Amino acid sequence: FITVEQTSKSFHKEAIFQNLSFTLNKGDILSIVGPSGSGKTTLLRCLAGLESFSTGTFVINDKDVTALEANKRPVSLVFQHPLLFPHMTIQENVAYGLTFQGRKKKERLRLAQELINQVGLAGYEKSFPYELSGGQQQRVSLARSLAISPDLLLLDEPFSSLDVRLRNEMRTWVRQLLKDQEITAIFVTHDKEEAMQMGDYVGVFENGQFQQIGEPEHVYHSPSNAFVADFFGDHL
Ligand code: ATP
Repeated sequence: FITVEQTSKSFHKEAIFQNLSFTLNKGDILSIVGPSGSGKTTLLRCLAGLESFSTGTFVINDKDVTALEANKRPVSLVFQHPLLFPHMTIQENVAYGLTFQGRKKKERLRLAQELINQVGLAGYEKSFPYELSGGQQQRVSLARSLAISPDLLLLDEPFSSLDVRLRNEMRTWVRQLLKDQEITAIFVTHDKEEAMQMGDYVGVFENGQFQQIGEPEHVYHSPSNAFVADFFGDHL
């Protein structure tokens, strides 16, 4: 379903990643872990269309989307900090994602309500973002991202601004939501344990490449090189 082929990205001639290829089937969740500055966020931004790949192709369901603008791609990105519009209610924030699809207002509000219910925020429709906790705001971001029924959902450290208890709760909850709806997702995190818990697959990213991609247990117990072994070695 998702094919990223021979992609690379450079800033001012400096390569962030090169010849990067991977595929995902529908409903797969891939966690990406790697040291700070390894290019994880840059990869997500390229997939979302906020940056362009320097070379390579990105195909979703047999359609080449490499040259499509961000808002024309069936891809949503959830950022580290919930970027909600402060002057809009929760309902309006969620419905906003649907305006690009040319849906009628009534239909937008109905869909927004469905999403708000799904993320467990029924009753908060008319609230404003500042009235919600960090975790609740992140749920709204997720609902807004899901509003366009993306073929690929990208999550960039979505829980890192939450406290430990909430983070654990959100991990379990978000994974279940993605699994229930068979949403294909890429989840970037600094946290190895979180990567193992959230992903069907874990990709260890360093030096512009996946040093290894595999099922969490496999990557943990059978690291394919010294970098991966070291990376997991001092943790968990
Ligand atoms: P972190 O885990 O700290 O968020 P990361 O793995 O997500 O790091 P990126 O944020 O993708 O890494 O950054 C990778 C490299 O690309 C960094 O060296 C960064 O300085 C560089 N970089 C990112 N965006 C730009 C840009 N717009 N122009 C130039 N260099 C950039």
